[in-house]
Amino acid sequence: MRRRPTGGLRVDGLRLIIVSVSAVGLFTTYSALEIYRFGDLSASLRTQIAESAQRADALARAGTVVSDKVAFAEAVAAVAATEGADAEAVERLRSGAAEDRALRVAELAATEAARRDGLVTLWGEASADLSHSLSVSLASIVVLLFTVVLRSLAYLSARDRTEAQLRRARADAEAANAAKSDFLATMSHEIRTPLTAIKGYAELLGSGPLDVRQRDELGKLRDAGEVLGVLIDDILDLAKIEAGRIDLHRDAVDLRALAERVIALVRPTAAAKGLALGCSISPDVPRFVQGDTGRLLQVLLNLTNNAVKFTGKGGVSLSVTRDEGRLSLAVSDTGIGIAPADVPRLFKRFSQIDSSLTRAHAGSGLGLAISRGLVERMGGEIGVESTYGEGSRFTVILPLVEAAEAADDPAPAGVRGAARPARGAARVLVVEDSVQNQDLIGAVLERAGHRCTRAMDGIEGLEAARSGAYDLVIMDMQMPRMDGIAATAAIRALSGAAGKVPVLALSANALPDQVAAMARAGAGRHLAKPFALDDLTATVEAMVAAADATDAAALSPPTATGPSAEGALAELAALLGGDWVQARLRAALRDFDWVADETEPSALRIKAHRLVSDAGQLGLPALAEAALALEEAIDAGADLTQARTLLAREAANAEALLPALLARVSKV
Ligand code: ADP
Repeated sequence: MRRRPTGGLRVDGLRLIIVSVSAVGLFTTYSALEIYRFGDLSASLRTQIAESAQRADALARAGTVVSDKVAFAEAVAAVAATEGADAEAVERLRSGAAEDRALRVAELAATEAARRDGLVTLWGEASADLSHSLSVSLASIVVLLFTVVLRSLAYLSARDRTEAQLRRARADAEAANAAKSDFLATMSHEIRTPLTAIKGYAELLGSGPLDVRQRDELGKLRDAGEVLGVLIDDILDLAKIEAGRIDLHRDAVDLRALAERVIALVRPTAAAKGLALGCSISPDVPRFVQGDTGRLLQVLLNLTNNAVKFTGKGGVSLSVTRDEGRLSLAVSDTGIGIAPADVPRLFKRFSQIDSSLTRAHAGSGLGLAISRGLVERMGGEIGVESTYGEGSRFTVILPLVEAAEAADDPAPAGVRGAARPARGAARVLVVEDSVQNQDLIGAVLERAGHRCTRAMDGIEGLEAARSGAYDLVIMDMQMPRMDGIAATAAIRALSGAAGKVPVLALSANALPDQVAAMARAGAGRHLAKPFALDDLTATVEAMVAAADATDAAALSPPTATGPSAEGALAELAALLGGDWVQARLRAALRDFDWVADETEPSALRIKAHRLVSDAGQLGLPALAEAALALEEAIDAGADLTQARTLLAREAANAEALLPALLARVSKV
């Protein structure tokens, strides 16, 4: 039976004690009541009960227990009302709160009474009141739970809404990014095609008689073409990085050769500015690490080129060290430095600190953004420390994974040309403008225990050959800037051992008079692309053994033995890995529209020429022959219709074969 809180003073006194339970301690109060109920009260127990009552009284006066409950019940009612609980429930809550307020008034009155009367008599009545208190509390708990559930539901649906919005926004952003990347890739491709023609015609013009002014103007035209080419490559790289479509090779990177190459490439510019160039590799750095040689070179070259560009006096140095189990590549300079406020925007694309039209240094502001993208793709990080007016230090930190190739010659640190490898092994300079061919030649020769250093064209090749540190030069014939014939002649003009190095000419479909010109320039042997891998090794070894630099009689006619169609892919995959072969197959067989669309014979010839060696090397002889027929028809000034049709057909056949070829590679 529910009792009103305004009942007898004794009962109210008991309520006061029970309400105070939470504050003054259940144990004391209950013990007092039990003892009182069963008989004699000792004086001390009386005192104890009186003290309990007084403490409860004090608490009630302070309003802590009861007023908290009232405030709570009112707050719950208010929340329930705003959350849309039904009106009856809210009303019940409000009246519960009012009841509690009445209870508090009664309790205060009871306190007064308890003080007068002293003690409480009936435990049964107390139980009834306790259950009343509990039922009020229970109602509060139910409403609280109800509120919590309502709030949770509201929260969950708001969260779902936000997540859906986020998902939509992310999908929109990804679609926009993909569209931008596709646009950039397409535009770069479209620009590259006429650019190839511009460069091709510039080459043609350069081979004819020109007066000094015309040669100078042609030089500017070529330079502009180069800059545009680099810019297009950069934009394409950036688009790939931003679309997450950069594929990295896994080469065994020869760190010393890499550092040496970087330094060799910037040496002419640094020398022209009178800058000192330094390079150090700490002895605890392994000779070979896993990585993408081409991309690493790109990053280091960008940093080193920048260092040279922004340094007026003093020097630039490259250092390779081990940093807590990671690889650290640092490029330091004594140049203009970077103000702290400018550092945050350095690695953003198209960002240059001096972006004025009158700025002293050329550049697009893409190099560092690309470098950062590549380094992050490699699992590393790139940073800079700089003091304005004093110089900068850019550092690339990469995971260090030692590659399988063991260093058989602990070359001392520093740049001293290629280190002399173990007995019987040759130091080979590979001058070749196709990175893929560089990879291939490097892998073939390194497998046989030789050591390769790479150069991208005749000018780089000549620069590297000056050191006299090579046993043999492999020279591609057709290259930008300086072709193989001119480079070979320039090497022969060098004094001392450098001028006597044997040169092996490498070419796709060289005409007999070109082969003869190469021999006159000083090449000892000629090997046609595509070549059988064993032929390359055997020729290199024979030439190094004979150390015969200029024996034109030894010049062999272009060899007709390319790799067998059957064995080619398996052999390449075993040597360079399935990924490499797949990437090359895709690259060689991608997008043959140019066969029909390309209107400029010079541009068409360049593409056909490249396809001759690429297709041949990949074991696709029919496609290589069709490309060769087109190239020959262009050279002969013949009508190209038939050759185009043949090549288009072979291209379609090869494209149709692609899935089967890829499957074959993936099985290797
Ligand atoms: P770019 O060199 O084509 O302008 P980068 O992205 O390579 O583009 O460099 C961006 C900018 O960072 C440069 O324009 C230059 O302002 C600044 N910078 C880069 N390297 C250095 C350096 N070593 N010293 C001073 N400033 C530098």
